[in-house]
Amino acid sequence: MKRIFLCGMTGCGKTTVGKKLAKFLSLKFYDLDEIIERRKKMKIEEIFKKYGERKFREIEYEIFNEIKERKNCVISLGGGAVLNKNILDFINKNENYAFYLDVTLEELKKRIKRSFLRPVLKKLDDVEILYNKRKKIYERIKFKIDGNKSPEEIILQILSKIDFKYYKRICEKPHKFYIGNIKEFFEEIKKEDSRIFIITHEKIKNLISHFYDLSRFETIIVPEGERAKSFKYAQKIFKILLDKKADRNSVILGIGGGVIGDLSGFISSVYMRGMRLFLVPTTILSAVDAHLGGKNAVNFIAKNIIGTFKFPEIVFCDPRIFVTLKKEHIIDGFAEIFKTALFDEKIYKKFKKDFDKLTNPDLKTYLKWVPITGRMKLKIVEKDPFEIKGERMLLNLGHTVGHAIEAGSGYKISHGKSVLLGLKKEIEISKNMGIIDKEFYKEFKKIFKRIEKFIPDHEKNNLKKFIFMDKKKKENLIKIFLIKRPGEFEFKKIDLKNFPLL
Ligand code: NAD
Repeated sequence: MKRIFLCGMTGCGKTTVGKKLAKFLSLKFYDLDEIIERRKKMKIEEIFKKYGERKFREIEYEIFNEIKERKNCVISLGGGAVLNKNILDFINKNENYAFYLDVTLEELKKRIKRSFLRPVLKKLDDVEILYNKRKKIYERIKFKIDGNKSPEEIILQILSKIDFKYYKRICEKPHKFYIGNIKEFFEEIKKEDSRIFIITHEKIKNLISHFYDLSRFETIIVPEGERAKSFKYAQKIFKILLDKKADRNSVILGIGGGVIGDLSGFISSVYMRGMRLFLVPTTILSAVDAHLGGKNAVNFIAKNIIGTFKFPEIVFCDPRIFVTLKKEHIIDGFAEIFKTALFDEKIYKKFKKDFDKLTNPDLKTYLKWVPITGRMKLKIVEKDPFEIKGERMLLNLGHTVGHAIEAGSGYKISHGKSVLLGLKKEIEISKNMGIIDKEFYKEFKKIFKRIEKFIPDHEKNNLKKFIFMDKKKKENLIKIFLIKRPGEFEFKKIDLKNFPLL
C-alpha cells in the first residue's frame, strides 16, 4: 500500500508533480483543495473571503479526515494544511510517505508572479512573510525534496525515497541482465575487490546521485551525444585510466544510454587488452537493446565503424530512472521495442495491445517490456554471439537503411528514429520484392501512421554513400533480412548498385 502526501508552499509544484507521479506509479491522485472546492461548490478564494481563514482550516481538516485513509494514492495538500498539528502528525506516520517540496524564495516568487496570487498571498511581498513563517513547520515533514528542479527530477527524488522491492533475473546468458533497485546494485558492487571507474554524463551523474552517493567511485564525465563515441574521447579516457593506474582487474561501469554503453564497452575491451565491464542503462533504448549483447563501437567517418564484441559481466536496469526521459527518447526506445516485437508473433500481438502504453509508458509498462524485449534479444545473441552464423543479423532489422539515415543526417536524427524510418523503408523493399504478407503490410502502415508525428523528415540524397559503408556488405553485396510477417523472414543478398532506396 502506498499513500504519498505532497506538501509545500503555494507554487511549489505539488499538483503537477502529484499528477505525473501518480500516473507513473499507477496510483490515484487527489488534490485536497480541488475536493474542497467541489464539495463546497466554491473557489478556495471565495471560501476565504466569505468565511475567513479559520473556518477554511476547519473545512480543510474535516475533508482531510475523510480522505486521509485512502490507499494507493498521491494526495496533494494545500500550502497551509500542515499548520494543523494533527494533519502533520498523521502524514508523518510510518505507513505514509510525506514529502516537502522545498523551493527557494527567489524561485517561488518567480513562479507565483508567472501564475496568479492565491488567497493567502494577496501581494508578492506576502510570499516572503508566509515563506519564513511556514518553513519551520515544513521542515518537520518526513522527507525534504529539492523542489527547484523540473517536475520529472522532483519525481525521481521522490521515487528514490519510496520502497522499491523489485528484483528480477531476466537472463544469465550470454551475460547477466537483471532489473531491480539501483541502490542495492551499488551496495553489491561496492563489495567488489576491484576499482570501479564510472563513465557517464554530468546530467546522469546528478540523477543517479539521488539514489546513491557516487563519490565513492572514480567518475569520468563525457559530453552528451554521438561526439563522445569517438577516438578523441576514448583517448582522453585511456589517459585518465593510465594516470589513475587502472589495471586489467579494474571495472568500467558505464551509466547512461547507448552512447555511454558503446563507449564504455569499447574502452573496457581494448584498455590493457581488456578490463571488466558493468553497464547500467538509463534510456529505454539502452535497456532493451544497446547495452545487451556485447557489441560496442566508436564512430569513425561512418557510424559504429571501429568496435569490438565484449560481453558485459552484468547489465543492471532500474527503470525508475526512465521517468526523466524526454518524449523524443521515449520514442527512440519504442523503436527498438517495435523492431524486437516483429521477431515473434506472440510478442507482436502483445505489442499491438500495449501500443499506447509504450508511447506513453509508466513503471508497470517498463517492468513488463524491458524483460520481454531483453530476453528476446539475448536469445538471438546467444545463438550467434559474434554474428558469424547469420542469426544475429536479424537484430539489424531496420538498421541497414536506419544507420544510413542517421549518418546521412549528420547524426541530427537520433538512432531510434532512424531505425523507425529504416523499418518503414525496409518494409517497402520487402513489398517491392514480393516478400511481405499483404495483410501484415496494411497493418504495419496503419501502425506506423500512429507514430509518424514523432519522426522527422530526412534527406534521401546521400543515403547510398552511407549504405556503401555498411558493415554487413561483402564486396558489392549487402546481406539483409526482409520481413514476411512477424516471426517470418527471408534472407536476401542485394547488389548495392541496385539497392532500392525508394
Ligand atoms: P544516448 O545515449 O545519446 O542518450 C540520449 C540522451 O538521453 C542523452 O542526451 C542522455 O544524456 C539522455 N539521458 C540518458 N538517460 C537519461 C535519463 N534517465 N533521463 C534524462 N535524460 C537521459 O542515446 P540512446 O538512444 O540511449 O543510444 C543511442 C546510441 O546507442 C547510438 O549511438 C547507437 O548507435 C547505440 N546503439 C548501440 C547498440 C549496440 O548493440 N551496441 C544498439 C542500439 C543502439
